[in-house]
Amino acid sequence: MSFDSRALRRQFPLFTRQPALHYLDNAATAQLPQVVLDALIAHETGRRANVARGAYPLAEEATEAYALARERVRRFLNAASVAEVVFTSGTTASINFFAHGFGARLGAGDEILVSEAEHHSNFVPWQQLAERSGARLRLLPLAADGRIDAARIEQFVSARLKLVAITHCSNVTGALTDLAAVVRAAHAVGARVMVDGAQAAQHGAPDVQALGVDAYAFSGHKCFGPNAIGVLWVRAELLETLPPVFAGGGMVGHVSLAKTTYAEPPARFEAGTPPIAQAVGLGAALEWMASLCWPEIRAHEERLGRCLLDALAAMPDVRILGPREMRERLPIVAFAVDGVHPHDLTQVLGDYGVCLRGGHHCAQPLHAAFGLEASARASLALYNDDADIDALLAGLDRARTMLR
Ligand code: PMP
Repeated sequence: MSFDSRALRRQFPLFTRQPALHYLDNAATAQLPQVVLDALIAHETGRRANVARGAYPLAEEATEAYALARERVRRFLNAASVAEVVFTSGTTASINFFAHGFGARLGAGDEILVSEAEHHSNFVPWQQLAERSGARLRLLPLAADGRIDAARIEQFVSARLKLVAITHCSNVTGALTDLAAVVRAAHAVGARVMVDGAQAAQHGAPDVQALGVDAYAFSGHKCFGPNAIGVLWVRAELLETLPPVFAGGGMVGHVSLAKTTYAEPPARFEAGTPPIAQAVGLGAALEWMASLCWPEIRAHEERLGRCLLDALAAMPDVRILGPREMRERLPIVAFAVDGVHPHDLTQVLGDYGVCLRGGHHCAQPLHAAFGLEASARASLALYNDDADIDALLAGLDRARTMLR
């Protein structure tokens, strides 16, 4: 199928809204295509039952739909097995889950490495783990252009290093991390690499085997799927060694008054009734993504991102956070305008139908590294087009005049 951004946009009911919206907050959440809404409704109206419990046909159909969703996630990630795919409620839940499971084996003398560019969801769980386990949290610094300085990882690797928890792409600067360098250095000392894929996953399927990482987390709602569903993928050989974090129904082998044995992964890590329809919706979203022509989408997103970066770079009162070149980033562009608070700016833009986020974007350490409290952020997805960029730039001019 060849890429046509207008045809793509027509698949999203939100864009029939009048007056038209210029939705540029895709890093916060992406919109839902009709095919995903249809899949959700079909499931909830025709196949709603609990999974992995009942033996009647309706329950079996629901169980099969849930299993198919897992297989679709496996394909999206190019994971070796569905047993490596754990459904969670989102990236935050996936990372916390991993921090508790993997973290159970850490203690004083061990080290965890994160970067200064992390979203709070991939920072605070490790800070907490360090506090409760006695392990030491170390920080990979930023390069001058705001990228994670992966080349400096060599200074942090030693036999003490047990885990690197790092983002695939910054939700502020859009900068891509050199995961190959991170994996090489971490694995050389036997440390594991867990990747926060919340942003990267929206811009094309990550191949976890090619990346060589040990765990990968992402959210459904940023990948054109429903809320309250996410994934934690963990390499089988590691997942099998992790203790279950939550206990309850569905994750057990046998329970007696004296002792409980656990089910095999992934059931061992999915206690209680899972987010069934949400998983089905995510499966539909990932199938939809798989049906698209990604080289064309990448070229389209890159061209739009470059247009935006070039236009902002030509404004003397605008400071772009992160690398200037699109080849080093995804189309997520945070910027600061001299003398204009991002909250005021995004409010005025909102009045013109331009949806942009203003704030610290859950990345206060990163903003502190830039000497800022907050920024405005435009994040593009495959359905954005030149009209969205034009509306943003026109709104920026008007807001500047109004707010100064
Ligand atoms: N990590 C990154 C890089 C993110 O951008 C986000 C969402 N803004 C998260 C983690 C958290 O994702 P969620 O809120 O879906 O759990």
